[in-house]
Amino acid sequence: MEKTRTYQVITYGCQMNVHDSERIAGVLERAGYRPGPELAEVDLVVFNTCAVRENADNRLYGNLGRLAPFKADRPDMQIAVGGCMAQKDQGRVVEKAPWVDVVFGTHNLASLPLLLERARVERVAQVEILDALERFPSTLPTRRQAAYSGWVVISVGCDNTCTFCIVPALRGRRIDRGPDDILAEIELLVASGVQEITLLGQNVNTYRGGADDRDAFAKLLRACGQVEGLRRVRFTSPHPKDFTDSVLVAMAETANVMPSLHMPLQSGSDQILRRMRRSYRRDRFLGILERARRHLPEAAITTDVIVGFPGETEQDFADTLDLVRQARFAGAFTFLYSVRPGTPAATMPDQVAPEVAQERHRRLVELVDQIAWEENKLQLGRQVEVMFAAGEGRKDAHTKRLSGRARDNRLVHVALPEGWTERPRPGDLAWATVTYAAPHHLVADAGLTGLVRTSGGDAWEAAQGDRAATVGLAGPARRPAAGPVVP
Ligand code: SF4
Repeated sequence: MEKTRTYQVITYGCQMNVHDSERIAGVLERAGYRPGPELAEVDLVVFNTCAVRENADNRLYGNLGRLAPFKADRPDMQIAVGGCMAQKDQGRVVEKAPWVDVVFGTHNLASLPLLLERARVERVAQVEILDALERFPSTLPTRRQAAYSGWVVISVGCDNTCTFCIVPALRGRRIDRGPDDILAEIELLVASGVQEITLLGQNVNTYRGGADDRDAFAKLLRACGQVEGLRRVRFTSPHPKDFTDSVLVAMAETANVMPSLHMPLQSGSDQILRRMRRSYRRDRFLGILERARRHLPEAAITTDVIVGFPGETEQDFADTLDLVRQARFAGAFTFLYSVRPGTPAATMPDQVAPEVAQERHRRLVELVDQIAWEENKLQLGRQVEVMFAAGEGRKDAHTKRLSGRARDNRLVHVALPEGWTERPRPGDLAWATVTYAAPHHLVADAGLTGLVRTSGGDAWEAAQGDRAATVGLAGPARRPAAGPVVP
């Protein structure tokens, strides 16, 4: 009898990739593969790559190089490369790393088992990249990282042309999924114990639901509010250009849509926004935040900022700092601009010297952290509802704190009181009072009460032992409950 083949998926980049990795794992398991714990021993390693982040090429080819000796020792081991770098480099991947067995693109995840089999039988590397989506990824089987929380893709691709972004070139034009299909997936997820979903798209506001309905995304949020048993709804990422007040009103009026908003700024300078081809300006951006705070006074608003974009002067950077001061973000993903081949910005004149960009980045992070800390201190003494999470935050051996997310997506560490017998499981909920604030987390060590043991916790418990090392993350160590789809 042939032995069951084992696999590991190594993921780089954004949530869209993390979710694609869940699909890759699902497709492999349907084909009979099982997760394997040790990289050195598994039969298949899949790299789900990102072309957006800095040094993506170096990281991928460096990691492939590290796997070469394993492959030399065990020729039956297979290596597959998928995701955006595969879509970009195509056959060049096997030219640079001839020990790779399969290269597949972002549009044909479902073909992976077939390509692996063909590579094994024919002993020739298989490269299959499609230019257009073969099947909507959400119609594929999935193996989710967390039993109590799930990504739900509402659209793929992007119709914008931001000059720093490779997504439109690699993932194609936007394709929306129908609302009925999305809601059917959400209902299935909830029936299997999922408590929280994150609606995912490169630009969720342009979602039209297959019709020409500018309010389709707001309607989708309201429809999520009707799904019985669904406790928390998040989404990422919106785009300031397309953001309508109907979304804010839907958020405010739909109880299970969480008061957290990730609104990518990228730059506070109108001149740089123009060069980035981001078609909003700083006044419009600040106007959105003002209205968001009016409709959702409890919301935590986070952002993305790129520093050192070509042509950025000290005055442009000062404009960004000024906007960050006015916006009072609860947190920000800050990125040092780096040249991404294939994007219009890569060939722009006036590239900013790396040491100048680094110094600006340091000043920005300092300001962002200071404001986030001040905002977090406003939470002191407040009662927050925490959904406990698996593998998130720190393991505090001394205090034995558990970690989770507040409704506004803040990371919260909670100590169990002396004599507390019922240990919350990931997906369970409780209330606790905030006793300490740091720039990137809260501690809520008092007043723990109202533990709700959810079907998400039951599902997490049932999945234990089965899920170890299913989807390895090469990017952030934790799964962000919401964050940028692209920087
Ligand atoms: S940055 Fe976002 S909105 Fe702009 S092109 Fe890339 S995916 Fe589209």
